[in-house]
Order: sequence, then structure tokens, then C-alpha cells
Amino acid sequence: MVKITKLSPIQIYRLLPKTNCGKCGEESCMAFAVKLLNLQTTLDKCRPLVEDPKYRKNYEELRKLLKKPVKDVYFGPEDRKIVIGGEYVMHRHELTLLTPTVIAVEIDDSMSQDEIERRLDFVKRFKYEYLGFELRIDTVAVKYVSGDSDRYMKVVEFVRERLGRPLILCSVDPRPLEQMKQLLRDERPLIYGATESNWERMLSLCREAKVPCTISCPGNLDMLFSLVKTFNKYGVEDLCLDPGTFPKSIGYTVKTFTAIRWLACNEEYELAGYPLVGVPATVWYTDVPDDVKPLYESALAAMLLIRFADLLIMRSDKAFTYLPIVILRKNYYTDPRRPSTVTPGLKIVGNPDEYSPVLVTCNFALTYSIVTSDLEKGKANAYLLVIDTEGYAVDVSVAAGKFSPDVIAKFLKESGIENKVKHRVLIIPGKAAKLAPEIEEKTGWKVVVGPLDSSDLPKFLETKWPEILKKYLQ
Ligand code: SF4
Repeated sequence: MVKITKLSPIQIYRLLPKTNCGKCGEESCMAFAVKLLNLQTTLDKCRPLVEDPKYRKNYEELRKLLKKPVKDVYFGPEDRKIVIGGEYVMHRHELTLLTPTVIAVEIDDSMSQDEIERRLDFVKRFKYEYLGFELRIDTVAVKYVSGDSDRYMKVVEFVRERLGRPLILCSVDPRPLEQMKQLLRDERPLIYGATESNWERMLSLCREAKVPCTISCPGNLDMLFSLVKTFNKYGVEDLCLDPGTFPKSIGYTVKTFTAIRWLACNEEYELAGYPLVGVPATVWYTDVPDDVKPLYESALAAMLLIRFADLLIMRSDKAFTYLPIVILRKNYYTDPRRPSTVTPGLKIVGNPDEYSPVLVTCNFALTYSIVTSDLEKGKANAYLLVIDTEGYAVDVSVAAGKFSPDVIAKFLKESGIENKVKHRVLIIPGKAAKLAPEIEEKTGWKVVVGPLDSSDLPKFLETKWPEILKKYLQ
């Protein structure tokens, strides 16, 4: 298998129908080939290739060429599934990383009801606003430690109902899992896990309930790959690998994770081509002083996140453990080929009413973050129209024609802002001042040029907006 980064568009093009029919939304097959290699489209968009039997062989060949060396595995019901793994490369600079590491917090069935509820509340409420994104913890891993299968089932049911997210069920004893086959079928949790001693029962459980499974062989790669081979032989392909997280041997842990990902991405070693599970929660089972554990766990999680862990199972219930991790994850999984963007749309700042100002800006994440934070600091109540400039800042997108009067006019119409305010005044960024007359012409709105620097916006709105509103409202 050739690495995707070594493929050329012409190699892809040769296998496409070459009819330039446009059904994929591209002008030509060559344009489609280029987009495929840039991961901007998917093979199934070429319907003739998928549907016409005469292209079957080419389709299969292309699928093989474009196959991810690290399989993506999902858990949870189809409508709210969580995906882990699914990468083409080891390092983001080679192309991009696709699937951010999933973060799960451990709850075990020996905890009191209060403790379980408190932890669930922590997971649900954890939220950090960063560059216009909401950073969150993904889910919960429910661990079997009580030795009481009924108790475990009750806790799993409770967590499932209360959290409403896909779950990870951690038990090396197959019995409690075997008792909840219906739940497994309905919820498709990730099972953690199959080991050297329980694999036969775990294998038959996974085959029967069709759930993904983590194979856990800490410190024993030969056994890990041997079990992957066995599971594959019996048709179980949705696997994750846990090669072991050793808090007192971080160097060894990281080397092992790196070796597995290297084998998958650079050596075509298919048995290594599965998502990796890191368990920073292991810190809590060491003699590290209790007050240091949340920090130690955070550092270990950060190390694993940048060294190929696709899923992290953690135990701390302190927000400061997770804050650096979710920010690191956001930055690490940003596509280096594209500017960071926020979703375009009409955003609300404060509590605006029908006489509040309407501002417009670009969707470059940093600009958006600075503008909203300046407005919030100034306690402004306003509507903010965020235009799709493909992540370019205002001055660049004005020059590139992405922040243009036509785009703004269309966006203004589609946003529904006309039904929210009684005035027709639009405040544009100072850096787009030259567009003011044409925007007025295209939109029919009065355009006011705002400050060059958004830090001056609160004062601008406080001192000038009442006057502007009075002048143009009649
Ligand atoms: S749909 Fe397929 S055949 Fe048609 S233009 Fe796109 S890539 Fe070419």
C-alpha cells in the first residue's frame, strides 16, 4: 500500500471514469482526484464509479489505495456515535490528523451514588470556550470493581440514562458483560477489554453482540498482535489496542505507542492499524501522593495525546486536570493546511433587542474570538454576523474577495437579522472601510465603519451607537 502522501493526483485520475460528468460536484475527474488526495471529498461522491459494474475493479483498487492505515472504530448508537482512530499519518505536518483524541472519565461501581452523580455532573458541565469553540469531555468509562454483577449493571444503566452518551464498559471479567447482552446490542459500547486470559469469552461476546473491543496486553506486544490476529480471523475487526500505560515508565509507554503507530503508518503492518487506548487513570493506582495525582495524570495524558493515543481513560474529577488537555487537543488536531475557522452564522452577544447594533466580521477563529471577547468585556449587547471567509482575517479576505459586498448582502438576507432589528444599520470592520459604499448599494442598509481595532468597539458602541440609531431609525 502506498502512503497517501506519496500518491499523485494522476495515479488517482487514471482509475476514475474520466468522463468529467460533474456528478461529484467537481468540474472534472482531475479536480475530484486532487480533492480526494487533500481529503476534501470522499470516493463515494463519484456515483458512476460506485454504481457502474464496469468500474468495480477500479473502485476496489481506489478503496485500497485510499484506505486509512489506522482504522476508524466507532462506539455508541449510530445517531450519536463517537469515532476513534481513523488516521492516515503519524504527524499532522505530513498531511493532517483527522480524529481528535476522545477523553473519557472513569466511574467505578464501588463508588457511592452521590459520588457517581457528582462525577456525571462534572462530565456534563465541563465546558471551556476557546477561540469560538466549546471544549468538552466526551464520555464516561464505567469500570467493574465491585465483584457484584448486578450492582455493575445498575450503575451502567444509571450512567447510560443520566449521561445519554456512548459508553465504555471496563471489565476484564466477562460475566457482567455477558449478563447485559441486550444493552450491548442496543448501545454498542466500547468493551475494555480482552486479555490473554479472557479472550475466548470476550471474542464470542463481541461476535454475538457486535460491539467493538479493546485488546489489552500491557507490556506484551507479541501477545497483543497475536490476539488481534485471532479476533480478525473470527471476523472481529472493530478493535482498539491497549499496549499498557505505565506512569512510572513514561519513556517505555511512549516508545511502545510510537512503535505501534509507526508499524501501522509506515510499515503496512495491519495488525497494528487500530486506535490506541491510553489510560492515564493508572496514576491513581500508584503510590504518587494524592494531591499530586491530578497533575501527574494531566501531564501523562498530554504526553499520550501527542504520542498517538486515540482514546484517553482518565480518573481525576478536577477541571484543572482536563483544561490543558482539551486545549492541547484542539490545537493539535487543527488542520495545518487551513486557517482555524468558526462556523459562520448570526451570533448573539449579551442580550440584544431590536434596537441593538448589528456588526459583521470574518470567520477566522482568532478574529472571532478577539471580537466577541472585546464585546463581552465591554458588556455590549449586539448581533454579530460571522461571514464565511474560509478562515481568512478581514484584511486578507477583503483583498481576496471573500469579504465582499455580494457575500455580505447574501448573508444578511439569509441570516434572518432583518426580522430581529427595527433599524437597517450595519457596522463593518475598519479594515473593510473601502467597501462601505458598495455594501450600502447591495444591501440597502446604511453602513457605518467601525474602529480598526476591536478593542475600541465597546467605547465606539457606547458613545456613538445611540446617536447613529437616532439618526437612521426614522
Ligand atoms: S462523478 Fe466521477 S466520473 Fe463524474 S466528474 Fe466526478 S470523478 Fe469524474
